[in-house]
Amino acid sequence: MTPSMKATTDNRPGNDADLLLPVADDDGAPFWEYTARGELRIQACADCEELRFPPRPCCPHCQSFGARWQKMSGRGRIWSYVLPHPPLLPAYAARPGYNAIIVELAEAPRIRLVGNLVAAADAALNSVDPARLRIGAPVKVAFHAMPTGVTVPRWLLERP
Ligand SMILES: [Zn+2]
Repeated sequence: MTPSMKATTDNRPGNDADLLLPVADDDGAPFWEYTARGELRIQACADCEELRFPPRPCCPHCQSFGARWQKMSGRGRIWSYVLPHPPLLPAYAARPGYNAIIVELAEAPRIRLVGNLVAAADAALNSVDPARLRIGAPVKVAFHAMPTGVTVPRWLLERP
């Protein structure tokens, strides 16, 4: 919690059952298995080592079907962001001022993940004052277990 944190309409921890959830397919299932263990891993080609995201069966660089999951540092920078405005789904309208950010990973700036910047792993979706969002701001990953069991990566400012 920071002094600049804006008032929220719903900041009860764990009350995220109404938010949209990722749907894991066969290629992406390992990503979610690792996040549940508190690890951010990105699919890498087992032959040419290129990282790729989103997960898929074939390497776009060398056409190999071999893959492994490489552990990331969990650090990156805000590459872009949006502050969604109405009309919104009801669950999101109840969290005014929430953000969606695109993070470029420190080890692989070509790899960009969409997520939310929050004040703490289990903080409300709108726990960061929108005025704090800056392109290029260093961020680090945190993991938030949703009520349904899936664990989503979220992002915290390196300098809160
Ligand atoms: Zn390859």
